[in-house]
Amino acid sequence: MTENALKAKYNGGTLPIGYTIDSERHFQIDPLTAPFIAEAFRQYDEGATMTDILDYLNEKGVKNSRGLPLNYNSVQHLLKNRRYIGEYTYRDIIIPDGIPAIVSKDVFGRVQDRLSENKKAPARHKAEDDYLLTTKLFCGYCGAYLCGESGTSRTGNVHHYYKCVSVKKKRADCHKKPVKKDWIEDLVVNETMKMLSDDNVIEAIVSMLIDLQDRENTNLPMYEQQLRETETAIQNMLNAIQQGILTKSTKSRLEELENAKEDLESKISCEKLAKPRVGEEFLTFWLKRFRKLDVRQKSHRKMLIDTFINSIFLFDDKMVITFNYREGTTVIVFADLQAALAGRKVGSDLECLPAPKTKSPKGWLRFWLAQ
Ligand SMILES: [Zn+2]
Repeated sequence: MTENALKAKYNGGTLPIGYTIDSERHFQIDPLTAPFIAEAFRQYDEGATMTDILDYLNEKGVKNSRGLPLNYNSVQHLLKNRRYIGEYTYRDIIIPDGIPAIVSKDVFGRVQDRLSENKKAPARHKAEDDYLLTTKLFCGYCGAYLCGESGTSRTGNVHHYYKCVSVKKKRADCHKKPVKKDWIEDLVVNETMKMLSDDNVIEAIVSMLIDLQDRENTNLPMYEQQLRETETAIQNMLNAIQQGILTKSTKSRLEELENAKEDLESKISCEKLAKPRVGEEFLTFWLKRFRKLDVRQKSHRKMLIDTFINSIFLFDDKMVITFNYREGTTVIVFADLQAALAGRKVGSDLECLPAPKTKSPKGWLRFWLAQ
C-alpha cells in the first residue's frame, strides 16, 4: 500500500466526489461531477453560503459515494478537501500535485480563509446566514447590534425581522421598533447600487486603493530610491574614469557599486513578483463589474453588502449608512423615501451625525486585490 501511495495510486476508502479511478488505480477527473465541485468552490468564494452550495449540489443531483444526497456537513467537508487542489494523501504520505486538480490553489486558499472566518464569527449558524446585515446593522438609539428574528403570524406565514439586541434581552431602556428583514435589506442593496453607479465614487475608491497599495508596499520605494542613487554613483565614477582618473580604489569602488546595483535589481524584481501592483484601470474595471450584479440573487446581495457596507445605524425614522471608503456616509430619511415614492417633495433637514468609527480598510483592500 505504501508503494501504491508513493505512486499516488488509490488505496481504497471514500472516493471524493469529482474523481474516478482508472484501471491502473490512478485518480482521474470525473467529467460528470467535477464541474459541480469547481462551481461549488467558485460560488463559495464569491460569497454564497454553505446552504446555497448544498441547495445547488442537490439540485444538480450530486450524490455522495454511497449514492445518498449531500448534507450540510458533507459540503463543509468537501470545501476543505485538499485533494481538489491535487494533493494526494495516504496516512503520512502527502504528494502535492499527485492527482489532477479540480480547483485552483488561489480559489481554494480564499475558500479556507472564508471558512475559518465564519467559524470565528460569534453564534453563527445556518439560519443566521440568511440575515445579510448581521454584524453591520446597529441600533441608532442604544448602539447595540440588530439581530435576526422570525415569527409566525396567525395566518401561519413566517415573518423575518431585525430587532435591537437590547430590546430582545430587555437589557436597556431601548424602544427601537423591529424592522422587516426584506425591506431593510432591499433598501441597503439599492443604496449600494446607487453609490456604485456614481463614477465619482468609483474614482474615489480607486484612488484610495492605489494609495493604500503604495503604503502597503514599503520595501519597493526604498529599493528603487537606493537603485537610483547607485546608478548616479556609477555614472559619476564612469565620468571620472573618462577624465583619466583611474586608480586601484576607483576600480574596486566601481565593482562594488555594480554588484550593489545587480543586487538591488534582483530585490526589486522579487518584490514586484511577490506583490504585483494592480493598476488603476483594472481596479476601475473590477469595481464597475459590480454594477452588473443581479440584486435579486442572494449571493450577489451578500457580496455587495460584505464588500461595500461598513456599518448602518438604524433609527425609526432614518438610517445612516457608512460605506467602505472615505467620506462614504449617507443619511436616508424614511419619510423622504415615502415622499419620493408618492411623487411628492418634502423638505428635509438632514441631521448631522458623527460618522461611525471606520474599521481599518486594509482587510478589505486585501480582499479586493485578491479578487
Ligand atoms: Zn437599541
